[in-house]
Amino acid sequence: MERFKQLTDRIAAFASASTLFSWDMLTAAPKGSRATMAKLESFFGTETFMLCISDEMKQCLDELEPIIDGQDMVTKGLYKVCKKEYDNFHKIPIQEQEKYNQLVAKAYIAWEAAKKNNDFAAFADMLDEIIRYNIKFIGYRGYKEHPYNTLLDDYEPGMTVKQLDAFFGRVKETIVPLLKKITDGKKAVDTSFRKRHVSIEKQKRISRLLMDVLGYDLDRGMLAESEHPFTQSFGRNVVRITTHYHEDDFFSSIFSVLHETGHALYEQNTMEDIGETLLDTGTSMGIHESQSRFYENVIGRSYAFWEYIYKDLMEILGDDFKDVTVRHFYEAANEVKPSLIRIEADELTYSLHIMVRYEIEKQLVEGKYDIKDLPALWNEKIREYLGIIPDTDTAGVLQDVHWSGGSFGYFPSYSLGNAYAAQLLAYLGKEMDIEGLIREGKIGTITKWLRDHIHQYGRLKEPSELIRAIAGEELNVDYYVEYLNKKFTDVYGL
Ligand code: ZN
Repeated sequence: MERFKQLTDRIAAFASASTLFSWDMLTAAPKGSRATMAKLESFFGTETFMLCISDEMKQCLDELEPIIDGQDMVTKGLYKVCKKEYDNFHKIPIQEQEKYNQLVAKAYIAWEAAKKNNDFAAFADMLDEIIRYNIKFIGYRGYKEHPYNTLLDDYEPGMTVKQLDAFFGRVKETIVPLLKKITDGKKAVDTSFRKRHVSIEKQKRISRLLMDVLGYDLDRGMLAESEHPFTQSFGRNVVRITTHYHEDDFFSSIFSVLHETGHALYEQNTMEDIGETLLDTGTSMGIHESQSRFYENVIGRSYAFWEYIYKDLMEILGDDFKDVTVRHFYEAANEVKPSLIRIEADELTYSLHIMVRYEIEKQLVEGKYDIKDLPALWNEKIREYLGIIPDTDTAGVLQDVHWSGGSFGYFPSYSLGNAYAAQLLAYLGKEMDIEGLIREGKIGTITKWLRDHIHQYGRLKEPSELIRAIAGEELNVDYYVEYLNKKFTDVYGL
């Protein structure tokens, strides 16, 4: 037991070291230092991985197995997490894993250049190789029902193709016609004020206002700037976020800060018993994304929220914005406009972007593809669901970094996050007047509920266990569909 505890502490420390180099590389390191930081990040990342599949780990797990039932909650949790990791990854031959890691490192650079030059062909062979490696690794690891299930389980434990097919089926039959109604309708939302110049100094004050309203504990956290916003956690006492300021689009940072603060609250609110262990983080990508989107979309894009922050916000923005009303802010925050780029997509069309990637990934993992047809396949699906066609592969199949890193099975977490958020909102709404609380700035009351039901458990419970414990049901897409219908019927007066 003592050895197991020491080993997991060592793994957690190596993982934190890797994260810290990544944090430094993305927020502070000047250009000439980045390669060194990246090397150190990868060194500690590999060490972490090797410890997880080490003989020492196997010995500990074997010796613990017969006595694990009698142990405390934290030991049982750690055992479960480590056993799963070990079972998943020790079957892949080390030499092949190393070759794959090298390939992926090269692929990132190739993807970056291909995207910049709109040259899919320059990246195609490497992408093909990455896909073939993934298919091979699934072969080593094994799968139930569909090979894609193995990859899904890495990001959203227990999720299956069967569940996702049903999920996206409902999403498709709801969002596509709703979107058509909106784009065919006459109502246009005036968002021109978003382009007005807001200095970075003012935007920093807005960030502080938002973090305070949401209740992010800055004694254990901080906000930095980076190219793309993100959250990093080293356990509940060190939880950091970033944003990116655009002087001609101050909304961009507002929603980044709300989103990342949502991630941060989850990480800061784990129970002390699991602090600084391998359990001291979110349970899955989908549940994590449900928290970020709860604060960003459910709270941050609600009318009540803009009512509450309006006075303080106007004080910062000054006279240049005195013609902008609460309603203007609310409508601009919820503007629906099909776009080619996922990360710029609005709340309604977002899941359509994910659906495109999900359908393609499933096909890739089944091995049913010809790599050179990928751009055309992509464009056809975007046309079908969003009614627009990418004019370059840069704005099409090459836009996202994920595939260059071999992250297949990751995208669905984003949509699951939206759906979980809507489901949690429905449960919460039965217990309290959410709108009233937001209007009075009592977001702490809502956070307490989320802490009690979700945050505190960290990785102690799996996604479906968390959701089932609240209302006895599993992921249910009905809540999400109803939420979208209600919201956009109001914004667009349908
Ligand atoms: Zn996120």
